Amino acid sequence: MAETGCLYVVATPIGNLADFSARGREVLAAADCIAAEDTRHSGKLLAHFGVNRPLLSYHDHSSERTRDKLLRMLHEGASVALISDAGTPLISDPGYALVKAARNEGIEVLPIPGPSALIAALSVSGLPTDRFTFAGFLPAAQAGRRKRIEELKEEAATSIVYESAHRMLDCVDDLIEILGEGRRVFIAREMTKQFESHFLGSLEQASVWLREDANHLKGEFVLVLAGHEAKPGEDERLPEALRIVALLQDDLPLKKSTAIAAKITGLRKNEIYRAAVQK
Ligand code: SAM
Repeated sequence: MAETGCLYVVATPIGNLADFSARGREVLAAADCIAAEDTRHSGKLLAHFGVNRPLLSYHDHSSERTRDKLLRMLHEGASVALISDAGTPLISDPGYALVKAARNEGIEVLPIPGPSALIAALSVSGLPTDRFTFAGFLPAAQAGRRKRIEELKEEAATSIVYESAHRMLDCVDDLIEILGEGRRVFIAREMTKQFESHFLGSLEQASVWLREDANHLKGEFVLVLAGHEAKPGEDERLPEALRIVALLQDDLPLKKSTAIAAKITGLRKNEIYRAAVQK
């Protein structure tokens, strides 16, 4: 029986072709099959580097037949390279279903690391990098987007968001409304490309920067948001809320007393409720 092959997850450039690693190119040139998110898009990259290997279109919504075909090839000893349109596959890009299936079936999966917009933006943001949350693309519809921003509101770690050009202004307006105009943000636009530009300042200043020059709204963007900083005295609010709940609890249901305590202290109902039931 043939030895099982290897699935290589290969990062490609996010703009500047010179960022493609020598190892990435070697793996693609030697692959029995290159599974690509968009074969036409990747065809140009491969032609640029003189790589001429069989290409197969793959995304996570591909039929199971496509995935099964790739898995079968891997079981038969083939070497398969997975690439996406830009950056690291699986990072807001297809590949998760394939990697998961390959792992479940005991197939070796190796990374060929390289560019990823989130790490590139974070690394130059000037915002804390010791802990961060990658929030991916926020939902396109406003209600969903606002809900996700609410979830980020109390996040102490730096948050990273991908956003498309045509939703940037709406997104920044919602961020101002929910996180406050003073929250610091870093915007990385068109990284590694000709018209790369960066902005660091408050959300309010970011809104001005985006609106003052039509070029600032063109291209690809990553938003890096500073984490929530607890204000002095904020930590004392939870014990106060729990005292209120304890006082009201004899006469009111826990949910009701939690809601009142939330109104008085400004903390979130869920946070108080969780702490109250754990007591
Ligand atoms: N897999 C990619 C990665 O590793 O970063 C991300 C793919 S996702 C479909 C595309 C999004 O990544 C863009 O909408 C943008 O938010 C961000 N992005 C990709 N390239 C970028 C660049 N050169 N400059 C700024 N943002 C970029």
